[in-house]
Amino acid sequence: MRWAALALLTSPAWSQAIVLTGCTVIDPSKGSSVPRSNIVISGERITARGPAASTHIPRNARIVPCSGKFVIPGLWDMHVHVGEIEEDWFPLYLANGVTGLREMAASAKNFPRQRRYQDDVAAGRRSGPELFSTLFPMDTPPIASVRDAREEVARRAAMGLKYIKVSSELSRAAYFAIADECRRRGLQLTGHVPDSISVREAAAAGQDSVEHLDGVMLACSRNEDEARWRLRANRYPWKMLADNFDLDKTGKLIGELRENGVWQTPTLAIHQVATLAREGKLPAGFRTEYARRDYANAWPREALEFFLPGLDAETARSVFALHRDIVRRMEKGGVRILAGTDTPNPYCIPGFALHEELALLVESGLPPIAALRASTSNPAEFLGLTRDFGSIEPGKIADLVLLDADPLAAITNTSRIHMVFRRGRLIDSAARRGMLDRVRASVASQTTPPAAPRQD
Ligand SMILES: [Zn+2]
Repeated sequence: MRWAALALLTSPAWSQAIVLTGCTVIDPSKGSSVPRSNIVISGERITARGPAASTHIPRNARIVPCSGKFVIPGLWDMHVHVGEIEEDWFPLYLANGVTGLREMAASAKNFPRQRRYQDDVAAGRRSGPELFSTLFPMDTPPIASVRDAREEVARRAAMGLKYIKVSSELSRAAYFAIADECRRRGLQLTGHVPDSISVREAAAAGQDSVEHLDGVMLACSRNEDEARWRLRANRYPWKMLADNFDLDKTGKLIGELRENGVWQTPTLAIHQVATLAREGKLPAGFRTEYARRDYANAWPREALEFFLPGLDAETARSVFALHRDIVRRMEKGGVRILAGTDTPNPYCIPGFALHEELALLVESGLPPIAALRASTSNPAEFLGLTRDFGSIEPGKIADLVLLDADPLAAITNTSRIHMVFRRGRLIDSAARRGMLDRVRASVASQTTPPAAPRQD
């Protein structure tokens, strides 16, 4: 323990203040963009921020000239599956400015590993994004009785989980018992909307976040009941849903989601992949040189099977267009949005996919500042972490991304990364390049891919 503390004190990131001078600071929560600013970082936290002309620069500080640079808070990917902590993925997240992750389904074996990783990151013993984790969804293995459902929530609460994931197969009785138990214990209820439940029922029952727009098209359809019946009989109703989209129902649903405080993680990245797969347009421009070989080998097949099964290309296109339109209406209607990607699902490559998701949110009609909010201040607020994360203010952890161009002018500029700060440690351009090169080399050396244990 003692040596760890000593190592922290002697590490350069902790002994010398760093000052970013003359940058434009973007604050997504306030919707502001302030040019000619200085940011002072001391240890792992921001200690000052203000006009370049008047912000005190500590003696012996390291000056990083940043005129012409745009600084945003570190980005969060709010839907990932990091499994057993892949050594190759964490550099990809960091090099892409992704400084926080919400794991959505760790196995019983990987959950303690992820915990240990997060403890190490928080204590400065290793570098990587923040990681908040939950266990496999409540229907794996299937939960039969209400009593079992309540007991399982209690067991997970005792393990210190902050949120519970639900998934498609839960019975109505089990779902409502879980929702009730989460409410009583102050746990967040997140995940899919079970096929047996409507989104409106989930909203009323207190579900905190809905992933992948699950069940949303059903709730926006004129023939929701028949479509639900078909879905449960594995007779996929996508075309029927697209043909019977109802704007009035959509408006009402959006009002209920807003009133009940239900956040949405649309994961448009996987919707896009599902569409491109049906159109035969993969791998498009995806950065597969950074993807584990065994995963990438399985992706052409999986992209056609895993998400919205039974789709043809034309229906995929219209469903994707409708989903994007719904996301735009949701954001306009006051529903809170979280940026999440579902890495490592097909072609969702750690780090890179988040920039893809931001671009898709803007293509859907969100202003760039709203897309940034969905991956900075909204995640901090959703996870109850605003004391430490989500904006560039004195007292907060110094998680920053310096960009060469204005992301409010074009959201794709979030990919034009100059430097990243993670808990006050600088990852400069050379370090970033080194991280990316090492992962590419590691992937290129994977000649005999091991069997991939997949998680959803
Ligand atoms: Zn997922």
